[in-house]
Amino acid sequence: MKEELLDCLIVGGGAAGLTAAVYMGRYKRRALVLDDDGSRLQCIPRTRNVPGFPDGIEGRELLQRMRAHAEKYGTRTVRTRVEQLRKRDDGTFEARSADGLWRARFVILATGARDVEPDIDGMEAAVQAGQVRYCPVCDGYETQGQRVAVLGRAGHGLRESLFVSTWARELTWLAMATQHEVDPAELARLREAGVRIAESPPHRIECGVDGVGVRVELQNGEVLEFDTLYPALGLEHACDLATALGARARDDGQLEVDAHQQTSIEGLYVAGDVAVDLNQIAVAAGHAAIAATAIHNRL
Ligand SMILES: Cc1cc2nc3c(=O)[nH]c(=O)nc-3n(C[C@H](O)[C@H](O)[C@H](O)COP(=O)(O)OP(=O)(O)OC[C@H]3O[C@@H](n4cnc5c(N)ncnc54)[C@H](O)[C@@H]3O)c2cc1C
Repeated sequence: MKEELLDCLIVGGGAAGLTAAVYMGRYKRRALVLDDDGSRLQCIPRTRNVPGFPDGIEGRELLQRMRAHAEKYGTRTVRTRVEQLRKRDDGTFEARSADGLWRARFVILATGARDVEPDIDGMEAAVQAGQVRYCPVCDGYETQGQRVAVLGRAGHGLRESLFVSTWARELTWLAMATQHEVDPAELARLREAGVRIAESPPHRIECGVDGVGVRVELQNGEVLEFDTLYPALGLEHACDLATALGARARDDGQLEVDAHQQTSIEGLYVAGDVAVDLNQIAVAAGHAAIAATAIHNRL
């Protein structure tokens, strides 16, 4: 059991947590990262919109570099999964995992989010090959001139279809049995943007078979082929440690923050995909810089 009172515990060691670790280390604060090694950076075959890498960088390499950067300035990472975060009567925080207990005056929660994955044959290889992509903000540019499909329900799927229509040569919305729920005016907007709306919901999706990027069999038997598929089924934000303390979150789990990334719980800050904002590496780093500096100023 660790008795030391740290200045700051950083829960999550991805893009946000490791940036916070660099800032805390350079502010000469006693900080520690607790991370269970599931950063979404590891899913990125090559990111091309991170400033300073015009030819892109593999997500795994970026993660390694960020880890080395944090360690260089003295912020260690402990590989563990935090099961509970508690606020004690004296206002400090206590984090528990199966193998330890840590105390700190402040916490930065940087636990990220998970994409809701569709049931697709060959999914993992297809993500690495760029046949299935999750984030048109990140890589819509790479799909210029391609045949692209967006798989999703009304709302998110529809918004993403309009977004992707900027780049694709042919764009199809694979609406998951919910077309009848969509406002006719929204459907008209999609058609105006040149988006094709599949006649019936998808029955089976296969990737990388017989040299075809993505093959989709619809429930009416029609078969469509695409170069790229964007599942737009949303994200699950890893907010539980904060909401268990009473922190306010939106319906989708993104945590609400003030201008310095502090949640509705005094002393609990958040950064990255788990906070309300655009889910991007640059944004995660920005959140972390703001949160770490606000904490440094209060210590
Ligand atoms: C396929 C794909 C491609 C992408 N491409 C790009 C791109 O090109 N450009 C871009 O800007 N963004 C891209 N993104 C998004 C980017 O990966 C995320 O926005 C970024 O990783 C968010 O950083 P984060 O620190 O909030 O979360 P993450 O990097 O996911 O890190 C969260 C960390 O918290 C840990 N954690 C969670 N709960 C606990 C717990 N209870 N205890 C301990 N540790 C915990 C996780 O294991 C993980 O290590 C892409 C995402 C995907 C999936």
